[in-house]
Amino acid sequence: MSDANAANDPMMPYQLPFPKEALDEIVVPKAVPEDERIWVPQTQSVSFRPLCLNRSQGYWMNLLRVRKAGVLSRHRHPQGVHGFVLKGRWRYLEHDWTAEEGSYVYEPPGETHTLVVPDDVEEMITMFQVNGVMSYVDPWGKPVGYEDVFTKIDLCRAHYEAVGLGADYVDQFIR
Ligand code: FE
Repeated sequence: MSDANAANDPMMPYQLPFPKEALDEIVVPKAVPEDERIWVPQTQSVSFRPLCLNRSQGYWMNLLRVRKAGVLSRHRHPQGVHGFVLKGRWRYLEHDWTAEEGSYVYEPPGETHTLVVPDDVEEMITMFQVNGVMSYVDPWGKPVGYEDVFTKIDLCRAHYEAVGLGADYVDQFIR
């Protein structure tokens, strides 16, 4: 095929190497895992499944799973959050809408909220991209704790070590 023909062929792959410094892509075949050990527990009813722990830009992409009548503690977001509900239903105590299965949610910087799962929902799973930090606060905004991509990585390492997957199981999700 001539170069001119190749240039017009939509099925012709890109022909050059990627930038030398570019990071590897991440492909997670079973994003909703069959192996229960992959869920990292945070409380009795809340756990998360890492997908991309982006330490170089300070965000994390994960599945949040909350089981029956669980609560994700009140927290403030200084940066935006994107969410897509894969299963179940939840709401924030601070808003009057409900995020249903199939919903997309954008949480703007400055949000402080408390995520609750109704009694009639056995389990909800939502994919969240969280940027920067989640600052856990009391009802008047006083900080009582925080999470960032580094505390997430630490939680994963400790859990994967404890369940026999090995602390380095988390490395595949870190960029
Ligand atoms: Fe949040």
